[in-house]
Amino acid sequence: MSAPLWDAVVVGAGPAGSVAALELRRRGLEVLLVDRARFPRRKVCGGCLSPGAVEVLRASGLDGIAPAEGAHPLKRLRLLGWGTSAEVLLDGGWAISRDALDHALVAAAVREGVALREGAQARLHPPEGPVRRLGLVERSGETLVDARVVVAADGLGGALLRQGTSGPGDRSDPAARIGLGTRLPDAPETFEPGTITMVVADGGYVGLVRVEGDSLNVAAAVDATTLRRHGGPGRCVAALLEGSGLAVPDRLENATWRGTPPLTWSAGALGAERVFRVGDATGYVEPFTGEGMCWALAGARALAPIAAAAAHSWDPGLLVHWQQARARSIGRAQRHCRAAAWALRRPPLTRLVLDALRTIPALATPFVRAVSTPPTPFPGPTA
Ligand SMILES: Cc1cc2nc3c(=O)[nH]c(=O)nc-3n(C[C@H](O)[C@H](O)[C@H](O)COP(=O)(O)OP(=O)(O)OC[C@H]3O[C@@H](n4cnc5c(N)ncnc54)[C@H](O)[C@@H]3O)c2cc1C
Repeated sequence: MSAPLWDAVVVGAGPAGSVAALELRRRGLEVLLVDRARFPRRKVCGGCLSPGAVEVLRASGLDGIAPAEGAHPLKRLRLLGWGTSAEVLLDGGWAISRDALDHALVAAAVREGVALREGAQARLHPPEGPVRRLGLVERSGETLVDARVVVAADGLGGALLRQGTSGPGDRSDPAARIGLGTRLPDAPETFEPGTITMVVADGGYVGLVRVEGDSLNVAAAVDATTLRRHGGPGRCVAALLEGSGLAVPDRLENATWRGTPPLTWSAGALGAERVFRVGDATGYVEPFTGEGMCWALAGARALAPIAAAAAHSWDPGLLVHWQQARARSIGRAQRHCRAAAWALRRPPLTRLVLDALRTIPALATPFVRAVSTPPTPFPGPTA
């Protein structure tokens, strides 16, 4: 059966997918961007675009999006937990909802000439011949498309690739926390624009920040056992906030919550024949340092020349190149995030760190610098 042939099909229109699609289009490829959702759509996220992420957006000419969407510039991080607190000055970045950010990134890709298919769940067929085939499942049924190269930007768990192979050895951390998120229409005054409030507690942590339109974005990473014990996300997040002494915002418990698969996982393979994973689909570490979007955006920009070369002429060596390049750059950037995740599970250590920051705020400088610096650019073939 014949199917329309694209140079590249990008599955997933989060930050990684939209920017990968846009960068591939800029290299002259015919690109189809597919997402099962329709935009704007909600996504569990702290909504904080780190200074490093802004730098990566700038490199693609997209750094005007956050201010244009009415995002709040980030100024400080307020940390609360175990009876103590600390404040850290931040070095830039924006608080923006994922509805607004992702919608704007998709629009930018479409303006560049990328074709968009929303409301279509992609399924990868096993490799056969010189292209990869995908089924796009919509309400009206399934249609087929072929691609010289597929970019799997399908987020946590990276399920797309597992459909097309015998299993690339992906591993979830058995102790991985689960993400929860909601948005409340009116932020209470205690949540000033530009301040991230982070509550750390036994069983998880919660980040609250005012985003555009003065709504309050709430995102949490919690242990599955803690979630079960409280009998639901609203009650669970309220309990974490109560423990810190912070007033629980009205309507938080009864809000509509969204969840995620286990957050910390590692990908056994970063791709397969004519397929490259990017963004959270390459593995993820807990979101405490708020760098996931930076890694996703930087990965997308770095992958673009490699995937463009693969569309021109497939060579398995390009996959090896991608694996090595990603390990050198984002793998390194994820190390301090792993260290933070480890420390957060040790209350005496976290309390010590908060007390130290309270006395000497300058101790936070290396952390602030780390999230302000984008991952080092990958060396890659130019196509
Ligand atoms: C609680 C929490 C708080 C966080 N806070 C921050 C923060 O403050 N700052 C930060 O930078 N990062 C944060 N992150 C991380 C950040 O959200 C992710 O790293 C980022 O979204 C990764 O982008 P992505 O494009 O790889 O994937 P995603 O944004 O997850 O996009 C994947 C897309 O793929 C689509 N999709 C999946 N499967 C298919 C399919 N088969 N067919 C079609 N479409 C498909 C989905 O609908 C989705 O739109 C947080 C994460 C969590 C869970």
